[in-house]
Amino acid sequence: MLILLDVDGVLNPQSQHPRLVLSPDRALLVQRLAGLGDIVWATTWSPTHTFHLTRDLELADTTEGIAFPRDMHADPAAPAPTPKLHWVARWLARQDDPPRAVVWIDDLLRADAEDWAAAQPYPTLLVHPEPRAGLTSEHVDEVTAFVAAL
Ligand SMILES: [Mg+2]
Repeated sequence: MLILLDVDGVLNPQSQHPRLVLSPDRALLVQRLAGLGDIVWATTWSPTHTFHLTRDLELADTTEGIAFPRDMHADPAAPAPTPKLHWVARWLARQDDPPRAVVWIDDLLRADAEDWAAAQPYPTLLVHPEPRAGLTSEHVDEVTAFVAAL
């Protein structure tokens, strides 16, 4: 089970280059998620930042990240209302084995992402935090229930 995890608007870290520092409560929520599935960074922060996040949060060394172009909105391949959708769908399609299920947590998920999720051949849950509040324990509870029902 894959958990695609955005950073800004979801984890709302402080940037202390090259680190992104999470509040202790938020770090615990990410560690709860890591107990439910394999986290995949789905953020425009650089691989250096997500490398440090992975290490600081004691996530698996194999934790991957999806690469996004610097200016997603300017790319003609991605006119979508949900800017990351094109690259997320492409990354998933390129996996050697289809995932058992996918959770995508992002503060910017629009109707095109909902349509895409409903059309996936495996259970796909979109979790959409309010960007100023970010990820809450209720969101992690929702992921827990989704995993329990698989
Ligand atoms: Mg975001």
